[in-house]
Amino acid sequence: MLGVRRLNFIRKFATKNQQYFVDLHPLAPSNLLIDRHMGPSSSEREKMLAEIGCKSMDELIEKTLPPKLPRNKLPDWPVKTEQDIIGELYNLSKENTVAKNYLGGGYYGTYTPPVILRNVLSNPAWYTSYTPYQAEISQGRLEALLIYQTMVSSLTGLPIGNASLLDEGTAGAEAMTMSYTIHNRKKTHFLVSNKVFPQTIACIQTRAEPLGITVHVGDVESFDLAKFPLCGVLVQSPDLLGEIKDFSAFSSKVHEAGATFIMGSDLLSLCIMKSPGEMGADISYGSSQRFGVPMGYGGPYAAFFSAKEEDIRKMPGRIIGVSIDKNGQTAYRMTMQTREQHIRREKATSNICTAQALLANMAGLYSVYHGAEGMKMIASRVHALSSILKQNLQDLGYKVPTLNHFDTISVSGIDAAKLVETFEKNGINIRKIRNDTVSLSFDETTTPDDVNTLVSIFASLKGTNKNICAVDQYNKSAPEFPSTLKRESAILTHPIFNSIHSEHQMLRYLYRLQRKDISLANSMIPLGSCTMKLNATCEMIPITFEGFNVHPHAPLKQVQGYQKLIGGLRNKLCAITGFDEISFQSNSGAQGEYSGLITIRNYLKSTNNAKRTACLIPNSAHGTNPASAAMAGMNIIKVECDKKGNISIDDLKQKAQQFKDELACLMATYPSTHGVFEEEIVEACEIIHHYGGQVYMDGANMNAQVGLTSPGHIGADVCHLNLHKTFAIPHGGGGPGMGPIGVKKHLAPFLPRDVVLGLGGQGGQISSSHFASASILPISWAYIEALGGNGLAEASKHAILNANYIRKRLEKYYGIVYTGDQGMCAHEMLVDLRPFKVTANITEEDIAKRLMDYGFHAPTMSFPIHGTLMIEPTESEDKGELDRLIDALIKIREEIHEIETGSADKNNNVLKNAPHSLDEVISVNWDKPYSREKAGFPLPWVRTRGKFWPTVARVDNVWGDKHPSTVLPEIDFHL
Ligand SMILES: *Cc1c(COP(=O)(O)O)cnc(C)c1O
Repeated sequence: MLGVRRLNFIRKFATKNQQYFVDLHPLAPSNLLIDRHMGPSSSEREKMLAEIGCKSMDELIEKTLPPKLPRNKLPDWPVKTEQDIIGELYNLSKENTVAKNYLGGGYYGTYTPPVILRNVLSNPAWYTSYTPYQAEISQGRLEALLIYQTMVSSLTGLPIGNASLLDEGTAGAEAMTMSYTIHNRKKTHFLVSNKVFPQTIACIQTRAEPLGITVHVGDVESFDLAKFPLCGVLVQSPDLLGEIKDFSAFSSKVHEAGATFIMGSDLLSLCIMKSPGEMGADISYGSSQRFGVPMGYGGPYAAFFSAKEEDIRKMPGRIIGVSIDKNGQTAYRMTMQTREQHIRREKATSNICTAQALLANMAGLYSVYHGAEGMKMIASRVHALSSILKQNLQDLGYKVPTLNHFDTISVSGIDAAKLVETFEKNGINIRKIRNDTVSLSFDETTTPDDVNTLVSIFASLKGTNKNICAVDQYNKSAPEFPSTLKRESAILTHPIFNSIHSEHQMLRYLYRLQRKDISLANSMIPLGSCTMKLNATCEMIPITFEGFNVHPHAPLKQVQGYQKLIGGLRNKLCAITGFDEISFQSNSGAQGEYSGLITIRNYLKSTNNAKRTACLIPNSAHGTNPASAAMAGMNIIKVECDKKGNISIDDLKQKAQQFKDELACLMATYPSTHGVFEEEIVEACEIIHHYGGQVYMDGANMNAQVGLTSPGHIGADVCHLNLHKTFAIPHGGGGPGMGPIGVKKHLAPFLPRDVVLGLGGQGGQISSSHFASASILPISWAYIEALGGNGLAEASKHAILNANYIRKRLEKYYGIVYTGDQGMCAHEMLVDLRPFKVTANITEEDIAKRLMDYGFHAPTMSFPIHGTLMIEPTESEDKGELDRLIDALIKIREEIHEIETGSADKNNNVLKNAPHSLDEVISVNWDKPYSREKAGFPLPWVRTRGKFWPTVARVDNVWGDKHPSTVLPEIDFHL
């Protein structure tokens, strides 16, 4: 009762120095997140409005939003304090039952090493950084990702690993697509073992259908491989029933049949088992979750993927490589960035943009923490304990169909439903596989006592109640791994996996990596379209609550806390987007695009419109749009933009008419990627609907819409939301993310389905688990609950305020490419640098690198227009920080001017030589025509605020692509 009254009170009067609501109230609490989420204080806001030339926030918004644009005012949801948020999430986490868990099926218990839990997972220097596009200020996490790739490559026995994919199911689907491209898209059949995890098979089937690939699911070894033109054959070991197999002979058969051989595998098993590479696999994939990443009700975790050298250019996802900087020093970077969707668009190898970087880092560092020997010990122990269970079950007269196992035993000839229920009553989850078969999977957390408990339950069911101590029989010699499958080759031979033994070493190594990177803990990251806003600590604390670490296939009654949380989030997101239903089954924005387009595809099929496959995409669209459309089997039709950067309504009309019989949908971003609220968006939607198409809205720019307008009100039928942009989930150095989609009523029945849980619509399965990266949903929940209805709208307004303040101050020095009718930009803007190429031979890259000398991460480069930088400040930056970025850019304009006037050399100047690493600046051989001070301390506050020093000079992009190396080099490694 008290709580309710307090919330009402806050809703009405909540305010401190910022006056978001009514008047200052003497009893307002001091710990409202809204007061700290917003950067500008009320006095700063006044100054900024004055600079822009607006009297009030209302006037600013009126001048920015077109009058015709439909408005969406959010309900008056109350605001909450930081302590309310943490407390409520704690209570929700407690409503989940953390059962003793043997469900396996791709998700396993694991201990996150505390040193990694606190210093990586819970550390903003790691979790707030961006995808390492700017290599010079990302050497720390690039090294960590290289460790991950090195670990994957060593364990799978295949030379090239990537970092990373979204989940195991989609990694299996990517493997299929890759085998299809390896065979030049000519072989259209694909064979999958029926012993692969069902969620993986389902993801593969969804992916295959639009591409016209026929998937055969069955017993692969008895399948006539010559019957169909197979591009690939996919098996899994350990499989669903726990069986491990040597596929060496079978892989030769697959190769004789001219197909690619793909093995789903388990990294922990590979510590003691013969690797896929040694068995002749061309591709291996799987999950790295059990390497220290909590199950989190299904995610996030990194899927691994490895392949042969010759196929490196066909690999999906991000690959980290080794290159050199301009002084010849070893430096890391994302390799073959030319393959990114921005350039390849519909021809891209995948639509992966946001991946699972933070979780890949955790998994790689977990193997550093345990080292090669420690990893083998964990694997051997898991195997030994499950062997003991197996032996006891057989002794008790149970049928165990698993001949050779690693960690999973199945039991058949029983009433599975009854058995599952009996165990549940004892607080234990086991998996029902078929009516007469169950399975139990062991993991790092399984103890000898657990085995005794399991055996005594199995024994009591057989009427044997003698006091069993199953493990005692093995006190002397632990069960051995089957010799034919035993790994003979060494694992994790790199020194990094063999030299860190103490926690001090580990802690200092983590901090040494961390110091090399710029994150939001250093300075603002003004990346346009990426919305690098505050990831508040009170939003982050709850994700590590024990109650959120449950298995995604746990019975629904054990996950009531999650169901409440997700249900609440769903309702609020519906109100925010103007949609009727939400699907959470996508781990990134791009995956949301794919999910939304598949939903449209299935809807069109159901209305006898299967021939509608034309997808109109404006030139200004994000590269993932065409990449996702291609995956959804759509035919991409380009739409031009007009002189103001808006979608050309004339061209849209013309194309819609021309393709009226095939029109499936339009993909539009709003506000446009040019940073403007276009007048004609409603008309654009109407045109598409008129010609029988659907409107897909790319919701990456929701941060300018929330509480002001909405995709649903504008006329879109489906939209993805990047919870890792607008809704406060941190970027993690390139993931995790969440890209749920909202849809109008008519599309709801066609939303993705989860075949394991039987939840969702009748669409295909998009991700391994139904709520995708469920364990980071508390962050977005917290953000929305803390800010309340008005606060969310205030966030959008402040994002627009901050952007227009930058625009106004920069306008005198730089061209702003597009603005609205009244000269305003939305929440971001494009800064024109094209003239400097002519006047000073300076490119956007030079400016991006020079910003590092000032301690800033560059804005988005060359998107959506070459020769531009896109700046998005978000609402969370204060005026002081905005001024520093602006001052840096103004100073850089002066530096360009020096080149223009000839007072600085055209090729040997602060911009061309940027960034200046510490090494260079302190070198005795300083031979630049400008001072060290100018290089390293270009403005006074750069020195006084604690200079960030890039650890390498400008990285050579071409060298790394010409000599692709994707594992950690040995020579340069100094512990
Ligand atoms: C970020 C972004 C995407 C892709 O989102 P991911 O989560 O990285 O896959 C798509 N479109 C736009 C406009 C974006 O800014």
